[in-house]
Amino acid sequence: MKTDGIAEFRDAGHRLVDWVAAYLEHAGEHPVQPDVAPGSVRARLPAHPPEHPEPWDAIVSDLDRIVVPAITHWQSPSFFGFFPANASGPSILGDLVSSGLGVQGMSWATSPACTEVETHVLDWLIELLGLPERFRSDGPGGGVIQDSASSANLCAILAARDRARARAGTGLGKLRAYTSTQAHSSIEKGIRVAGLTPAQLRTIDVDETFAMRPEALAAAIAEDLDAGLVPFLVVATIGTTSSLAIDPVDAIADVCAARGIWLHLDAAMAGAAGVVAELRPLVNRGLDRVDSWCFDPHKWLLTNFDCDVLYVADRAPLLESLSVLPEYLRNRATDSGAVIDYRDWHVPLGRRFRALKLWFVIRRYGAAGLRAHIERGVRLARWLADRIDDDDRFVRLAPCDLSLVCFAHRDGDAATEALLDAVNATGRAFLTHTRLGARYSIRAAIGGTRTEREHVEALWDLLDSLA
Ligand code: PLP
Repeated sequence: MKTDGIAEFRDAGHRLVDWVAAYLEHAGEHPVQPDVAPGSVRARLPAHPPEHPEPWDAIVSDLDRIVVPAITHWQSPSFFGFFPANASGPSILGDLVSSGLGVQGMSWATSPACTEVETHVLDWLIELLGLPERFRSDGPGGGVIQDSASSANLCAILAARDRARARAGTGLGKLRAYTSTQAHSSIEKGIRVAGLTPAQLRTIDVDETFAMRPEALAAAIAEDLDAGLVPFLVVATIGTTSSLAIDPVDAIADVCAARGIWLHLDAAMAGAAGVVAELRPLVNRGLDRVDSWCFDPHKWLLTNFDCDVLYVADRAPLLESLSVLPEYLRNRATDSGAVIDYRDWHVPLGRRFRALKLWFVIRRYGAAGLRAHIERGVRLARWLADRIDDDDRFVRLAPCDLSLVCFAHRDGDAATEALLDAVNATGRAFLTHTRLGARYSIRAAIGGTRTEREHVEALWDLLDSLA
């Protein structure tokens, strides 16, 4: 059998596209989280790789038999855990075409369309999301697709670190970064990867909405300056992981501007909300004063994992931090300075043609389709929040301005945890938890690609019957 034969690829491909379509059509019929013991998947796989080619029938049958029963069904419309992973038909097909083209877009010269479609689509996104013009590629700024918000946050940390070192003429030891107690763990990880210690990241207290207190930030920075340290970076969050809290960017930007400190915004989940003009005052406030901003289309903008977008107001510090040009990558286009080489905008050299899936998504849904998706998530979350507010067995623990509902059982942490476990044990919905202040909180994250009113109503029925 010729396993790289085009005819075979076509046949198996049609069959597997049908398989994926059927999976998505019926994703809501599986228990959302599998009941699987550690090691049980491996126990069903042969100990040794096959010596001879296996037929597609055997491979697909093992997908059905071994893989599907042992995955968490992130594409189930009743998946309300973590944040959604928005897979969509256009995006899956974009990924397929990207795999088929198999290009390496590390430099413009290695595949001009890979770079230029990306640049163009990211300029479109500025218009779609109502982002500042200074992020556009035709000025000093620009955007780049990364694999994840964690990587984008790391790149912002590296650019800010190197700009501060160059300006202050100081070593790493004196640098200090600031973020709120609610910031995502990738900020601390990025700080560590950047060669700093966790102690060089100060976590700033939050208010009753879990948003950073700007006066506490100003005080921490003043204290560090008095001690001869070099504050170099503030990471604010637009939509924290625990509760979608939104840090007050205007006030934080005042603090940063006064000291020349890099301000990065992590808008991983909430950034997508900017497609709805009415939500921009909430999620885009102060954006024209930040140095960098990132969000994950793979969370809430109908684009398959992985796809993060990082914008910078000035690309120079990022490129100074990450550019390396070995002889074997030199080419006339790069030397001319007339092209973008995205390899200088992130850590890996090689890069997939991820812009294709965003391009497909934006074209197939249009701005209207993207808006409708975000509006549905917000509407459904509001509906659930209202049910919870009207029922005295529950207490809501955080504002619900977007698509996440955080709540507890009035009888305390043990009752809340028991309720979460009971819901998840049914397999008919999947929720995750966090801690907000001292309290154990259930998180219901709405916004799945195929989550409709009926699925949120079914979640509410479960909560109602199990509380
Ligand atoms: N930042 C925030 C605010 C998040 O909520 C998350 C994930 O939920 C991340 C960063 C990390 O995202 P990624 O998985 O794209 O690295």
